[in-house]
Amino acid sequence: VKTPKLSVQLHAYGEGQQLLLTRDITSVTLADAMRRDFVANVSHEIRTPLTVLGGFVETLQSIPLEADEQQRYLHLMAVQADRMQSLVADLLTLSQLEGSLPPGLYEKVNLPDLMGRVATDAAALSSVLSDQEGDERVPVHELIFEPVPHWSLLGVRSELLSAISNLVSNAVRYTPAGGQIRVAWSRTADGAIFSVSDTGLGIAPEHLPRLSERFYRVDRSRSRETGGTGLGLAIAKHVVQRHGGELRIQSQVGKGSTFMLVLPAGRIEPLSD
Ligand code: ADP
Repeated sequence: VKTPKLSVQLHAYGEGQQLLLTRDITSVTLADAMRRDFVANVSHEIRTPLTVLGGFVETLQSIPLEADEQQRYLHLMAVQADRMQSLVADLLTLSQLEGSLPPGLYEKVNLPDLMGRVATDAAALSSVLSDQEGDERVPVHELIFEPVPHWSLLGVRSELLSAISNLVSNAVRYTPAGGQIRVAWSRTADGAIFSVSDTGLGIAPEHLPRLSERFYRVDRSRSRETGGTGLGLAIAKHVVQRHGGELRIQSQVGKGSTFMLVLPAGRIEPLSD
């Protein structure tokens, strides 16, 4: 049990009379602390690539370099700029996910269509992780997409796409080359489940409760190396909750993980073509 935070005010009135007012401000203090933490985290995440970028600019300005060296620096600078762009894009997405979905904002999202896009993106990401160049690049994971049911999802396409894509790209990013990633949709008694299972690093149980917090990462350097913003799971959780469902995670260190989006039956309709 946490000690409550109290605001105490002493008012004097009348002749020698005093009134003591106390108010429980535990939730206000907590919200304040979370906001401060969030701002501190964002500032830190932005400052790191900016510092690196500034360093490269200084080097380019002060030392005459051969053309290929110069290209190498410019490439490293582009990586940092990309990183800041992804961060700002994810922050914007997250800021638009507060609260429940306004009614009337639903579309009928064609699931086979949506999953086609997810599969293409997963293959591209897995190929980028190969050490080959250009056309030689092929996916370095075994990517298995189970047949997609002919459903429409009632929801916001862009949000559902970002939730699903984040989970699939995490599976690719946290699974060493040669591993397997399996993506599936299944029906349950009271809804549907999207799942992505990988044979990757896995996550120790003590991390699981905090995993979908903004900027929580098990391994900071691996997240950064593979272009992570630390916001993917927070986005996935907010999206699925706004759609009336929940995010579930099962994992075993060294064996792999399964991330699931559980959606209520009211979100699923047979596809009308
Ligand atoms: P990031 O951009 O760091 O990947 P996420 O919010 O998507 O941010 O994920 C938070 C953390 O959860 C990651 O940094 C990683 O430590 C862990 N994680 C997410 N997905 C997986 C996975 N499939 N396998 C192992 N660890 C994962």
